[in-house]
Amino acid sequence: MSSKGKSRILIVIGTRPEAIKLAPLVHALRRKPAFELRVLATAQHRELLDDCLEFFSVRSDLDLDLQREDQELADLSSRMLRVMDGVLLEQQPDLVLAQGDTSSVMISGLACHYRQIPFAHVEAGLRSGDREHPFPEEMNRRMLGCLADLHFAPTERAAENLLREGVGEEQVYVTGNTVIDALHWALPRVSKDKYAATNGQRKILVTAHRRESIGAGLAGICAGLRNLAAREDVEILFPVHPNPKVRQQVHDLLEHQPRIRLMNPLSYADFIAAMLASDLVLSDSGGVQEEAPSLNKPVLVLRERTERQEGIDAGCARLVGRDPAEILKQANLLLDEAPIYAEMAEAPNPYGDGRATDRIVEILESCLAD
Ligand code: UDP
Repeated sequence: MSSKGKSRILIVIGTRPEAIKLAPLVHALRRKPAFELRVLATAQHRELLDDCLEFFSVRSDLDLDLQREDQELADLSSRMLRVMDGVLLEQQPDLVLAQGDTSSVMISGLACHYRQIPFAHVEAGLRSGDREHPFPEEMNRRMLGCLADLHFAPTERAAENLLREGVGEEQVYVTGNTVIDALHWALPRVSKDKYAATNGQRKILVTAHRRESIGAGLAGICAGLRNLAAREDVEILFPVHPNPKVRQQVHDLLEHQPRIRLMNPLSYADFIAAMLASDLVLSDSGGVQEEAPSLNKPVLVLRERTERQEGIDAGCARLVGRDPAEILKQANLLLDEAPIYAEMAEAPNPYGDGRATDRIVEILESCLAD
């Protein structure tokens, strides 16, 4: 408790998707007089994070600036653990909250456990069932399942995963995913026509950056895109992630290809505008699999496995892997068969109704009042 009798909450934000998914919660908690909120930016990807925090007008109170050139997981994790412990000692929060599956989120949970500070995990319970995919995120999530005290699961399926692993029923809440709340907030602030097709071309938006895809997987994805770009009626927009290994490989394989536009990462507002302008989204990103169905855009998931099975089951996403022939086949099917396209585009979004933030705030109010 602070000297004013308020509960101290520390929110940890390290990456662009964490900023997107936690921004609505930061604003909602700052409006609550019962809480004293601090935002800690750990900034593993400085440039992507700052742009996003600015868009959402989220000011960080503390900044760790952990980014290093070519950082290895063990280096980042050990530095993060030491620094996080210092922050906990200095700030003395009543609760720490973080979102997602990065190693820094897992380490925040571990640091809290060592200091016996309650830790709340947003977007809890996602599981691919394969220890190596996505790497290291699946393992980070499983460890967070053990470390967290409160689990905010986006869907029933995610909650069931946690219960199956032995997490107590009283610790698990199904809230929906805050990514939808963020999208609803952002939509009126987006210049919708920025990427609109001018010459009747079919637009395809692509993102691919997963660590386990670099090498053979990304080569397969790029070959699939080259085949797809042989169609004269398409334009492929590909904002390339700043990870130097991803950039190198994508630029080597796709630069100067007709009808493929490689771009720098887009701001969140521009990325939404690009999704709105697209007929189809091809992505290995988690957040994009959740956002695109809200905008009625079919998603082809460029992975062998997904921890977001809900979208596949609902019919708004298809798992196509990284085989070039399969990517081409599935993309052609959607571009050429209107009924198949319509069925996917109109499938309901299973990831939430835009009220996840309100639910999480209510739960925190009741837990921290006890
Ligand atoms: N995104 C963005 N600009 C881009 C690509 C993605 O703002 O150029 C957003 C996108 O809307 C989604 C999030 O970043 O909300 C996804 O981030 P990323 O693919 O890095 O991570 P993941 O969701 O797989 O953790």
